[in-house]
Amino acid sequence: MSWFPPLASTCQEMARLLSDAMDHRLPWHVRIRMHVHLRMCQVCKSYQRQLVLLRHLLRRTPHSEAEPTVQPQLSAEAKERIRRALDSSHS
Ligand SMILES: [Zn+2]
Repeated sequence: MSWFPPLASTCQEMARLLSDAMDHRLPWHVRIRMHVHLRMCQVCKSYQRQLVLLRHLLRRTPHSEAEPTVQPQLSAEAKERIRRALDSSHS
């Protein structure tokens, strides 16, 4: 939307901040900035609503493992697999 240039970059930042706000409490000045932006930006407002809804749905699932988590064992296993693949390519 060419008639909306100053807000566009802010919206990208807002998308990041909104998901951040879901996980941890943001500083008050950031929250005020978000609040002001959400009041005038319908796009971010609906995005926030979607995030809240998604969060709500995730919380309601009985298995907390349903939430995406980083598994260190997986990367170690992947590393080992890559190392083995490299070793076999040398012979
Ligand atoms: Zn916005």
